[in-house]
Amino acid sequence: MKQMDWNFNLPVALVFGSGTAEKVKEYIDRIGGTNGVLVCGKSFVRNGVADRFIASSGGTIKSVFSDIRPNPTTENVNECVKLMRSQNADFAVALGGGSPMDCCKAACAIAKGSDFIEPYHDGEKEVSEKEAISMIAFATTAGTASEVTNISVLTNVEKGLKKPMNHPAMYPKIAVVDPKLTLTVPPQVTASTGLDVLCHAIESYWSKNHQPICSACSVHAARLVFQWLEKAYRNPNDLEAREKMAEASIVSGVAFSHPRTTGSHACSFPLTNRYGLPHGEACAFTIDYFVRFNAENADGDGRIAALARDCGFDSPAAMAAEIHAMKNRMGMKTNLSEIGCTSDEDIRQLAKESMSMLMTLNPVTLTEEDIYTMFCALR
Ligand code: NAD
Repeated sequence: MKQMDWNFNLPVALVFGSGTAEKVKEYIDRIGGTNGVLVCGKSFVRNGVADRFIASSGGTIKSVFSDIRPNPTTENVNECVKLMRSQNADFAVALGGGSPMDCCKAACAIAKGSDFIEPYHDGEKEVSEKEAISMIAFATTAGTASEVTNISVLTNVEKGLKKPMNHPAMYPKIAVVDPKLTLTVPPQVTASTGLDVLCHAIESYWSKNHQPICSACSVHAARLVFQWLEKAYRNPNDLEAREKMAEASIVSGVAFSHPRTTGSHACSFPLTNRYGLPHGEACAFTIDYFVRFNAENADGDGRIAALARDCGFDSPAAMAAEIHAMKNRMGMKTNLSEIGCTSDEDIRQLAKESMSMLMTLNPVTLTEEDIYTMFCALR
């Protein structure tokens, strides 16, 4: 039987609501920021949103860093750190999806130190409160929920490795979720990021580290995604659908904050690294398989069946079938031939690179051979 001891601590002030992103100066004052960097995607520089943030910061945001690729690299973080150090920044504002937020988070964690990010990302050096500056996160996708986690997922291009790093000193001080910021997200990104929310909800629910507060959030978030994601996908200007998906995103962030994610997220890293699948689409690639597999092999207490029922399905198999159908309806890729992974050697490599720490949190203990078998079924 699972041991029932658990802890819950989430030291991030959450602000939710349409229009809340307009009070930039108020949040900066709350953390006592005087000399800041805005870290955002290039699209926000182009569409004028970055300028609006700077203008409403009362002169406290002094520079912008936007040289960040999707799935940010350790190099992106190092360049951001250089800027923070050169201006002696005491805070940063992240505006974006997971990529700018994770870049900003890692940079803030080491801004007052002297090393670059690689030794921290490799686990050779530990992040410390002493080297960190404060961060405020504005989420623009409904999505990763990076705004409420202490996790930064970075890619070390030289090593061909995408993996998360985390530390208590890496929590943003304030997370602002203004659904209006997500109105401009294009449909394919809405679909991919929304499926990431669903994976957070489901995987945290069955993680070996699951616990009651987080599980309640998982159920709430998963129900919202089934109800609202396709509405937001089909009608980007549907503010109610955007609000519900933003709510699902932040609640699923609370859901996975402690239990973390499991098999599907573990498999997503090489799918993104090797085949360029966007993060959420990569997580969703295997989630319906995992729903079936985990329900068949690790549901003695009926929890996964209960989640399926709470989401309106007769069984986990019915929930898995609906996830698969949703992916098809939203144009997401669902088999390996579509992404160019065809040879046995490629599939073996994919399985090998999926065996990261998150795989150990899957409710069924899985070997590389099991994952190889799964990927063969997804050919
Ligand atoms: P993203 O940040 O890479 O953004 C995807 C695309 O959407 C980009 O082209 C971006 O410019 C665009 N975009 C973002 N917001 C927009 C808006 N409001 N309007 C128009 N375009 C917009 O995507 P993401 O899925 O949010 O983040 C993915 C990254 O987050 C991955 O690197 C993933 O590993 C990481 N991640 C981190 C955590 C965590 O806890 N830290 C959790 C899950 C995923």
